[in-house]
Amino acid sequence: YDDRDGFIWLDGKLVPWREANVHILTHALHYASSVFEGQRAYGGEIFALDQHSRRLVKSAEILGFELPWSVEEINQACRDTLAANNLSDAYVRPVAWRGSEQMGVSAQRTRPHMAIAAWDWGAYFGAAAEKGLRLDIAPWRRPAPYTAPVQAKAAGLYMIATMSKHAAEARGYNDALMFDWRGQVAEATGANAFFVKDGVLHTPTPDCFLDGITRRTVIGLAKRRGIEVIERAIWPEELESFEQFFVTGSAAEVTPVREAGPWSFEIGDLTRQLQKDYADHVRGRLA
Ligand code: PMP
Repeated sequence: YDDRDGFIWLDGKLVPWREANVHILTHALHYASSVFEGQRAYGGEIFALDQHSRRLVKSAEILGFELPWSVEEINQACRDTLAANNLSDAYVRPVAWRGSEQMGVSAQRTRPHMAIAAWDWGAYFGAAAEKGLRLDIAPWRRPAPYTAPVQAKAAGLYMIATMSKHAAEARGYNDALMFDWRGQVAEATGANAFFVKDGVLHTPTPDCFLDGITRRTVIGLAKRRGIEVIERAIWPEELESFEQFFVTGSAAEVTPVREAGPWSFEIGDLTRQLQKDYADHVRGRLA
């Protein structure tokens, strides 16, 4: 991804893509003192931009560093990055981290840095999204809230996501379904999980993983249609009884799942309806 034309916003300036570099002794590279966001622009407008910028600031705060940019400045920087790259439908990736001003676990004297990149990124799961995803069961579990800053979108939390996704891909699956430290159903490696049974939506309570912006949007869209949504603990034993399964995320949008470990699901009307509602909503086409 580093060798291409375009501009990246780095610490307040738009710099040529190939020159947006950091030093090897960047604290974040050694100690994962990094937080990020991921959002999509549709027709030139970044969906839920303010919520994403707020979450970035909050994630940094949870990790103990304060960004010298306001939410409004971050919003504007995202829009500037999109414009500088002549993009209208795109994925936007802000990232903030502790710099190379100090080495060691203690990082009190490091400075916070921020960059924003944007590029054209089609369907997150590619063609597999159409037929429904096949998910493996992840070998790693989402950690307990007292063992990691689970409400931050922090780079360090993605170590087990990448390892789980690689293990799934090695076995021919599209992604992995992660359970949490208690053994309850949690989420996919980069998207939240929803299940359908008798016309009702069931989704795990987000107490050890991100309460995704797409997740909350889809809950709103479902309620708008009069669909009941139940947030609760979901155990793997129950997966057999669900008729439909889909995942949600800014990159993944609403993607149906047809298989998770030994369990299979249909791609039903309710999933298709919410998929369409979400696509319309992000483009401002929902009445
Ligand atoms: N869980 C994880 C682990 C994620 O990486 C993401 C993507 N940010 C989500 C859930 C969904 O969050 P959102 O809808 O805010 O993109």
